[in-house]
Amino acid sequence: MDHDTPQVNILLTLEESESKDAWKRACADALGVPLERIKEVRLRKRSIDARQRTIKVQLRLDVGLDTSLPELESPANSYLKIPEKARKVIIVGSGPAGLFAALQVISLGMQPIVLERGKDVSSRRFDLAPLLREGVVNEESNYCFGEGGAGTFSDGKLYTRAKKRGPVADIYRTLVAHGAPENILIESHPHIGSNLLPNVVRKMRESVMAAGGEVHFQTKVTDLILSKGRIAGVVCNENQSFEANAVILATGHSARDIYQLLNDKKILLESKPFAIGVRIEHSQSFVDLHQYHLQSGEKRPNALPAASYRLATKIDHRGVHSFCMCPGGFIVPAATSNSEIVVNGMSLSRRDSAFANSGMVVTVEPEDTSHYEKEHGPLAGIIYQQKIEHAAKQAGGGGQVAPAQRVTDFLKGAVSSTLPKTSYFPGTESVDLNELLPAEITRRLKQGFTLFGNQMPGYITDSAILIGFETRTSSPVRIPRDPDSLEHPMVKGLYPCGEGAGYAGGIVSAALDGLRCAQAIKNA
Ligand SMILES: Cc1cc2nc3c(=O)[nH]c(=O)nc-3n(C[C@H](O)[C@H](O)[C@H](O)COP(=O)(O)OP(=O)(O)OC[C@H]3O[C@@H](n4cnc5c(N)ncnc54)[C@H](O)[C@@H]3O)c2cc1C
Repeated sequence: MDHDTPQVNILLTLEESESKDAWKRACADALGVPLERIKEVRLRKRSIDARQRTIKVQLRLDVGLDTSLPELESPANSYLKIPEKARKVIIVGSGPAGLFAALQVISLGMQPIVLERGKDVSSRRFDLAPLLREGVVNEESNYCFGEGGAGTFSDGKLYTRAKKRGPVADIYRTLVAHGAPENILIESHPHIGSNLLPNVVRKMRESVMAAGGEVHFQTKVTDLILSKGRIAGVVCNENQSFEANAVILATGHSARDIYQLLNDKKILLESKPFAIGVRIEHSQSFVDLHQYHLQSGEKRPNALPAASYRLATKIDHRGVHSFCMCPGGFIVPAATSNSEIVVNGMSLSRRDSAFANSGMVVTVEPEDTSHYEKEHGPLAGIIYQQKIEHAAKQAGGGGQVAPAQRVTDFLKGAVSSTLPKTSYFPGTESVDLNELLPAEITRRLKQGFTLFGNQMPGYITDSAILIGFETRTSSPVRIPRDPDSLEHPMVKGLYPCGEGAGYAGGIVSAALDGLRCAQAIKNA
């Protein structure tokens, strides 16, 4: 923005916020100038404040005072050609961490070689149909594995609590340059949606390849090539090797074989806290009614997005909180193996399904999984996750039919005689979820639900369903790294990165970590 351009924050009613004339009047008032002097206004940020009955909209506007506004440059996706003989950087995984690392590696004059176990995003889509319809998991191509990683068929919420707004804005601009809607630059809680994300991911890959980077699909890293405490490359699909002295390991929280590989090679891993629980689903109209203070039967005004919520408390020294709430969304099967059931949530850009789902999870600390430590060491948390995922599979109705219960029955410990409608396509089986989860989880979940029911009247209702289980909220394992060089303390040149390594929780923070690792390689 031009530094002379005044910027004004205004607070309007929902109705006023729809009118550019109202924006101009509010800007004239805020600047103390006659209305005629406001020649043009441009929206820069928008957030909705629905805490009170009268909903307010906060807008940040650039104001053209006495003159029109300078043109804004649209984000562009031009990357310079990688120089010949540029340093090679292997990037394992093409999730947000891997893809943003690849683009940054190019910007820093190096050549990324991206290795991805799953398929390209178009082919990957075809593996989701049998997963949803027949409950058959393709163990290399699913909601977690494949181009774009776990972020591709997600809600695409881009909100992050990362403090440095500059780098976050750069992530948003890169996404827009690759086809994401421009409103993510404006909304305070931006999201993209599963229908648009695949195209963005494809365009990012095209940028990598156009600059001279390599992207290899169905290329699973199965071993590391090590020499005298340094990484020298990786082996893929047991027989193909790629050589480089810098490897970014961005394999996400579901690549259990990678943790196993590192553990087998005696490369240090650490347990870390994670969270486990259920998905809860209500009607979106209930969430709208409560969050927007509507009268029973009143519809949400068109100008308002599907409402979301966030609930959090602490019970007996453990957090209990909503996780990855998906307004107007769908519950999806996020398993990576046929022996398990795992659920998560996603939505389309319009967020217009009739359902609102959210994880409701309890923090699990390393001490809670210590009984598995003797046998499994730092992989104890994974064993804890797996037991629950396998129990869900056993109790479900075959394929990806998931165990489920009305929240009211969960609180009573009774099997539901019938189950309400749900967005979860593979189907549900009525089961007492109390029997499948560890007591330390169900006890806290029940207390949490009771409290949240008081905070959000109507939340505990016969028509809300719980589906099991939400186990992949984050990685139970951290792959340690030096805080300055970002290299693994035992393996020079190995850069643990993103959510799977324990340094991110979500699309934007994973992307930011990808940028950090690329920069660390350049600095080395
Ligand atoms: C259904 C769903 C919805 C979600 N919704 C949101 C949301 O709305 N907002 C949000 O911020 N976050 C969301 N998340 C979480 C988000 O997707 C992750 O936090 C993020 O993708 C982590 O990025 P990453 O790059 O670290 O790992 P990942 O995205 O998990 O990517 C890892 C990649 O590595 C590949 N890989 C694994 N092992 C190997 C190997 N051995 N060799 C080669 N490749 C390998 C995988 O196939 C995968 O593509 C959602 C997740 C899911 C599953």
